[in-house]
Amino acid sequence: MTGILYLVATPIGNLEDMTFRAINILKTVDIIAAEDTRHTRKLLAHFDIHTPLIRYDEFVDANKILPLLREGKNVACVSDAGIPAISDPGADLVKLAVAENITVCPVPGANAALSALICSGLDTSKFTFAGFLPKSTKNRNETLNELATHTETLIFYEAPHRIKKILAEMAEVFGNRPACIARELTKIHEEFIRAGLAELAEKIDEPRGEFVIIVEGRKAETETAPAENFLDVYQNLIAAGTDKKSAIREVAQKFNLSRREIYNAVVDLERSFEDEQDC
Ligand code: SAM
Repeated sequence: MTGILYLVATPIGNLEDMTFRAINILKTVDIIAAEDTRHTRKLLAHFDIHTPLIRYDEFVDANKILPLLREGKNVACVSDAGIPAISDPGADLVKLAVAENITVCPVPGANAALSALICSGLDTSKFTFAGFLPKSTKNRNETLNELATHTETLIFYEAPHRIKKILAEMAEVFGNRPACIARELTKIHEEFIRAGLAELAEKIDEPRGEFVIIVEGRKAETETAPAENFLDVYQNLIAAGTDKKSAIREVAQKFNLSRREIYNAVVDLERSFEDEQDC
């Protein structure tokens, strides 16, 4: 008989979010595999749990845990906060366990992404969890451009030191869409800042603590909005003497489209004029 692999959620701030079941499972399994044993030790001490603890993080090979499960030991996997395997270690371990027909059992609880989404005031019926954006600007740009076409709500995790930059990049690619920053969820300084991406980029510096960014999906009507519409407005602005950059910005805001989208359409328009003249 193989053991059971439990994926146990732990609080993301407020210790009262620990579930009775999580405490019971952590007390009764043979081993707890933790992302950071020092961090988890404090949690276990708080709940009077004395189960042996081993380290399991992205650097510790999941194959080290499998022999324990094969021997019949029940293992609980926990991350520093929230649900394991969601932007946290655990997913590779689950894949290997599933491949060996080892029972995997969820012990649900706190999660930053869903806690932020439900309080954001944005559509919760369909969403994409995008996790952390890539570190390199080029890869990030590619990811944002791909996500710009999604009509469902977008959820991002982010580190405080680059939030202003990321919000500005999002405003550039997504346009000034409604968004929400959920900061310090379940903690004393819990805060929800709701505004357009451009306003948020302007307003936010380097907030303390942890946060999630929720962004409204692309509006279905903007997808079908005839290109002439915004190009007409653009051409009227240019005819009235507005410079190209300001006209693009104004049209992007008016139609809730990204400046890049307008810019590309303008380039196409200019090309088509050139082609007509060549003929
Ligand atoms: N597995 C965790 C979960 O289920 O939510 C997520 C872990 S991920 C390494 C950490 C990120 O989650 C942080 O950078 C932040 O974006 C988000 N996060 C975690 N706790 C949070 C909190 N209390 N308030 C806001 N965001 C939080």
